[in-house]
Order: sequence, then structure tokens, then C-alpha cells
Amino acid sequence: MKRWNGWGNVNTDYPVPSSALDYLTKRLGSLDPIPDCTKETVLSAVSESRLPAHPLVDTSAEERLMHARGQSMRDWVGLRYGRVKSFPDGVAFPETDEDVRSLLKYAKEAGARVIPYGGGTSVVGHITPCPNDKPVLSLSLEKMTRLLDLDETSRLATFQAGVAGPQLEEQLKSRGYTLGHFPQSFEYSTLGGWIVTRSSGQQSYRYGKIESLFAGGRLETPRGRLEIKPVPASAAGMDIREMVLGSEGRLGVVTQAKVRVRRLPEAESFFGVFFPSWEQGSDAVREIVQSELPVSMLRLSNPLETETTLILSGKSWVGMADRGLRMVGYGDTRCLLIFGVTGSRQLFGRTRRDAAAGLS
Ligand SMILES: Cc1cc2nc3c(=O)[nH]c(=O)nc-3n(C[C@H](O)[C@H](O)[C@H](O)COP(=O)(O)OP(=O)(O)OC[C@H]3O[C@@H](n4cnc5c(N)ncnc54)[C@H](O)[C@@H]3O)c2cc1C
Repeated sequence: MKRWNGWGNVNTDYPVPSSALDYLTKRLGSLDPIPDCTKETVLSAVSESRLPAHPLVDTSAEERLMHARGQSMRDWVGLRYGRVKSFPDGVAFPETDEDVRSLLKYAKEAGARVIPYGGGTSVVGHITPCPNDKPVLSLSLEKMTRLLDLDETSRLATFQAGVAGPQLEEQLKSRGYTLGHFPQSFEYSTLGGWIVTRSSGQQSYRYGKIESLFAGGRLETPRGRLEIKPVPASAAGMDIREMVLGSEGRLGVVTQAKVRVRRLPEAESFFGVFFPSWEQGSDAVREIVQSELPVSMLRLSNPLETETTLILSGKSWVGMADRGLRMVGYGDTRCLLIFGVTGSRQLFGRTRRDAAAGLS
């Protein structure tokens, strides 16, 4: 079960290593956290729902709290300190496109505002209901997770849009394919959410951002259904996909999406390299990009992120490696570059060698 006031599953804990606590104390001063508010206290602030009854709508305080906020620092602080003032009036759980249509009709008749809800990983307040005189319906796609079709000739997969990252990759993997879209919120964020927020993944350098992966799909809107055909590049008029990409739930609910998939790579590995300074690191990244080396990921951390990453890992060998780096002149300005190599075995070997040669 998902945590109600933070990231992750209640059964998975991430204890902060003592070295990391020392480091945080050094940087932020003595830590004296205010105790978290209990769930019961926050639940007691949920007021009476203003929505009429509907078989697909849950108006329990519990579900309304679970869909009240995203995952930003502001959201967490609000939840943990009981500063949550607005809640949706109900949460709908459709299973089909027809359910979504009927829920939009119901919301219209009830004078309600609708907030489509994917994985709830928004960090910009998308899914926070505005205190308002109109009821708010959160429309969760968590039951719409199926792979509907895999066209292996065109390499197009059609999914229900509520599918979250791991469920999507699992369904493709069993058929030998991958989408290759791995935002850091992969665990919970959904295909529909990625499309309407123009999401970018850790390996978008290889696979492309979501706008290159999204080939077409279906939207249920208060005015009816919009079908977007997966036509190849066209010179005729506007590209309707561009209207949907980044629409953040304002045009309607994406219920199905067709995405471009690829065969699973034969080989993949990630490597870490240190540079004495940001300038040297960014020069190397520019060199790799401009020489068109087919790496799948490049992530250069500045000195502060490098230090934080090393210390928060809490692993003893990382501490030893850190001391070794300092001895050879990689001091406080050092920067960590993580790069990934993904592809056929032959390409993998060559790229790894060329990248290492370019970085030395
Ligand atoms: C720890 C963490 C790491 C992150 N890393 C990344 C990253 O690497 N790359 C990145 O791009 N973003 C990242 N994000 C931001 C966030 O995960 C993305 O914006 C993601 O695409 C949101 O998807 P979601 O399914 O959770 O959408 P939600 O948060 O549920 O909704 C976001 C918006 O999309 C709308 N929406 C959702 N589903 C639909 C649908 N089916 N139809 C219509 N509208 C819909 C909602 O109404 C809302 O406006 C991160 C967030 C966190 C908390």
C-alpha cells in the first residue's frame, strides 16, 4: 500500500545511514523535526462530500485524502504537518472508456470539476483541488492498466492510459519489447500522466522523450471522444498530438495511448566517472554528444550533488573510494558523471570503449 504522506510503499523503508545524518546536520544545522501529524487528524479535516452518489465514485474520507495532493516538498509538508485544507469530493475508479464517458456526464450534471489522476506524482500542484464553491471529482485511472494491442509489424503498443511504469514494462518485456521511458518517478507515474506533462526519462537520450514515443490514442472529453490516429509524419495541418502533449488534463482524459516500442536491448550497463571540476565534466559531455556516441544516458552532477550522492549512499566502499579520489587530487570540486550504454552486444562493446577513451 502507498504511503499517505510521502513517497513509496508502507512496507519499504529507507533508513537514513548515520553518515548521512551527520552530513545533513553539518549542512542544515541540528535536526529537531516536528512530529508527523497522524492520519486520523488529517482525515478529521475532510468535510462532507458535495457529490451525488454514483456506483463508480468513492466518497470516503480515506480515498479523498489519498488523492488530495501530489509528491512535491510542499505537498509532503502539508500532509505531514496537517496543513491540508482542500480535498476532492469523491474519487472515481473507471475501468473502461465508457465508464470515463459516463463519469464526465455525471460530473457535468453535478456541476463538478474533474481532475484526471494518474499516479499522483505531480510536483507542481496539478492535482490539488482549489477551494471552490463547485464539487471536485478526482478521476483515477488506476484500474485502466492493460496492454490492449501490440502491433509487432509497426512496433506500436496500445495501452490503457492508467498503466504505471513497472506494469507497462512488465507487459512489454514478456513479449520481448520495451518502451524505454524511465522518469525518476517511474514506479508510480503513468503513461497518460507522462503524455500530458511532456515527461522526460533517464534514457530519453536513446529512446526519445514522450513526445517522440506517443504515436496516437484516445481522449474522452466533455464534448465527446477524440481519436488520434498513429499516422506517420504528415505535412497536412496541425499535429493534434501536440495539443494533447502537455495539456495537463485540461482537454479531457487520455484513456488509451499508442506508443512506439523497441526490441529489448541485448546489453546494457551504467558507469560512473569522476572529473576534477564541473568545466572538465561538461566539456566531456559536450564531446560525447557532439561526436554522436550512441550512449543511452548522460547525467553530470555538480559538486554538491556529487557529494550528497556519495554520502547518502551510506556504503562503506563509497567512503573508501571518496578518500582515494581526494588523494589523487579530486577534491571538493569533483563531479560525478553517470553514463549508460544500451544496445546490441557489438554496439555495446564499441560504445563503451569509445566513451571510456573520450573520457580519459
Ligand atoms: C520523485 C519524483 C521524480 C520525478 N522524476 C521525473 C522525471 O524524471 N521526468 C519527468 O518528466 N517528471 C518527473 N517527475 C514529475 C512527474 O512524475 C511527471 O510529471 C509524471 O509524468 C506525472 O505522471 P502521473 O501519472 O503521476 O500524473 P499525475 O501526477 O497523476 O497528474 C499530472 C497531471 O496530468 C493529468 N493527468 C494524469 N493522467 C491523465 C490522463 N490519463 N489524462 C489526462 N490527464 C491526465 C493530471 O490531471 C495532472 O494535471 C517526478 C516526480 C517525482 C515525485
